[in-house]
Amino acid sequence: MANNEKFLVAGEHFYQPPRQASHSRLEHLTENQTDWNTIIAEQCYIPQIENGTLDLASFDFFSTIRQEMNEIAPEQAELLRAAMRERGVGDPFLHVLLPDLSREDKKILITAGFNNFANDVGVNPQWFWAPETALDNETLEVLVEVGYQGVLCAPEQIYDTGGEADNHPIIINLDNGESITALPFDRPISSSLAFANKGNADEYTRSIIIPKIMQLPSSLPLIFWTDGETFGHHDRFAHLFLDYLLKTSLPSNGVEIASINDLQDIWQETDYRSGKLNQRSAWSCPHGNLVRWHGACPCDEGLDGNWKRYFSEGLKHLNQQITDILNQNLDDGWEDELAENFVEHFYHKGFSSDKSIDMETSLLAAKASALAAQISCGTFFNNPGTSGKINLLFARQSLENLIDAGYEKEAEEIKAELLATLAKGIDPSNGKNLAESLAGIID
Ligand SMILES: [Zn+2]
Repeated sequence: MANNEKFLVAGEHFYQPPRQASHSRLEHLTENQTDWNTIIAEQCYIPQIENGTLDLASFDFFSTIRQEMNEIAPEQAELLRAAMRERGVGDPFLHVLLPDLSREDKKILITAGFNNFANDVGVNPQWFWAPETALDNETLEVLVEVGYQGVLCAPEQIYDTGGEADNHPIIINLDNGESITALPFDRPISSSLAFANKGNADEYTRSIIIPKIMQLPSSLPLIFWTDGETFGHHDRFAHLFLDYLLKTSLPSNGVEIASINDLQDIWQETDYRSGKLNQRSAWSCPHGNLVRWHGACPCDEGLDGNWKRYFSEGLKHLNQQITDILNQNLDDGWEDELAENFVEHFYHKGFSSDKSIDMETSLLAAKASALAAQISCGTFFNNPGTSGKINLLFARQSLENLIDAGYEKEAEEIKAELLATLAKGIDPSNGKNLAESLAGIID
């Protein structure tokens, strides 16, 4: 490569939650809802696929929404998988805060996402995007165990690097003797892309990107990572800005777009640093210990976030209760069976007659749904009405599968306990307790 050549990795994080239950007895709960995932696909995913933006960007595209793209837009889903083969990044199938999970649950989801990527795309993923980039060392250990080389994160999640972490590959040594590369994106550019005016890509390149990229050695590509929905959904025409930025503005200023999966060939040894991970940190809350998802946090913009404690505790307890039932009733190794066939178990339709009940299948489906009830969206926003219904929908689906497996009494007890915990939290948008505010889903 020529010495004056500059590289940039344009990263996008694509995610929308699964909004439909698959169990046949739960269709009535979502049948008249707005189909947000199709709307967002039409505003944002399909244009970026068809324009060829995703033939330049590097990106994670979470397993559940990828699965839905097969229904929403099968032809574009095929193009998406081809693009992922070159520049795709892996995910843990469900958008759950991994540090909140037991080691066994981490392994189930990280393996499920890895396998789903490999099956869909035809190659193994090298890099991993953690939901909310929430990480702890145990998650890093499991990532290495499953086969990942590295993980994306925000620079403020890394310390002890002896210099700026942004854009540098950071070697993190783990207690088990293994190591993994963390790759912190460029914080100022990533934040600016989310919030800056996206009217003029040439001007953005000249005034924002070029001054920063000129400070970096040629062997150290500038890496930005931003929510993919910014481009076409949150900001209606911003996908045109991104497309022009990547195809025209950056190349005409001497910047080549690189794939995240080719970085090992570009970095020089001097670009690597060693560092440590801030435990239980995330890109979307600077307040530490993943507090935004578990209680009152300045991120709540003045509303009382104390409800999040009861919401997250109640659903975490449900997941533990389901795990206990599986441990008592299934042979050792059920975790491997679930991870290997996660798609089948997560989208299990349930049983409508007593004759066809298969206890093991229903219990594994109950566990997959109990994990889906942990997705981070429910407590991301400052009130439970925005996204919390989705978590409760999967909690309900978990209980329906438990009933199918023959554990009706246990399902009743778990439901009663969950409702009692929810009743302790107050929805700050309407003053009702969470059980009242979210009534009609699990009860
Ligand atoms: Zn916060």
